Amino acid sequence: MSKVVDIRKFRVTRDERTHRPGECAHRHIKLDRHGGIVTCGNCGAALSAFWALEMLSEQYASALANIARLDQRLTQANDLIAALSAALDDRQTIQKSTLMSDVPTLD
Ligand SMILES: [Zn+2]
Repeated sequence: MSKVVDIRKFRVTRDERTHRPGECAHRHIKLDRHGGIVTCGNCGAALSAFWALEMLSEQYASALANIARLDQRLTQANDLIAALSAALDDRQTIQKSTLMSDVPTLD
């Protein structure tokens, strides 16, 4: 047995977790297809598949609600643009008729 420890047998792995367990909302889910294991990519916590599915369904519902709000605002913006455009057309029509009435006629 050698007294010298071969340095090549050591392995240093840096902990690159961006969050610590307990401080993390687990929004970066990692799926291991081979073992059917769900973990958090940020803190490394093991997550249950049910918890992950529930969190994803909540996020999906939140995204759908956000889309509905944005769609409603888009409809309101389009209605406002149509109203402003109609008002501008009316104003230009009035200005043209006013200018035409100011033109001297050759009587
Ligand atoms: Zn986490």
